[in-house]
Amino acid sequence: MAEAGGLYLVAGRPELGDWKPQYQVWYSSAEGRWLCSCGRRSCTHIAAVQLYIAYRRALDSGLYIAEAEVECPGRLEADGLLYARPTPRGYRILVISRRRLIRVRCGGHLLLELYGERVPAAAAEDAARRYGGQR
Ligand SMILES: [Zn+2]
Repeated sequence: MAEAGGLYLVAGRPELGDWKPQYQVWYSSAEGRWLCSCGRRSCTHIAAVQLYIAYRRALDSGLYIAEAEVECPGRLEADGLLYARPTPRGYRILVISRRRLIRVRCGGHLLLELYGERVPAAAAEDAARRYGGQR
């Protein structure tokens, strides 16, 4: 399955009666339904795309967490929930975010970008508890 700008490309399968190597599936907001280049009103290509989208949503329901040591004399902010523990030089921070790329700002300026690790929501809650509360 390949996707580009809302257009899904589904490989044809001769054993399912397909006669083209590839079909295009997209959602028509004008018609309020999924359409497929095979022209049938309901087909296995559309079903495959809907399954793919549901599966991807399930994967996306996790959260990203990232930890770092930062020095920040000003106000510390991040994309997501920010937890911080003071260290001799600054803070040890934990960020829980819906986004993989997490930006940390200090006094309104970009301090660093972190790549979050995807974890189940329960694991993110456990990590937050170790920090003892939100800053
Ligand atoms: Zn089709």
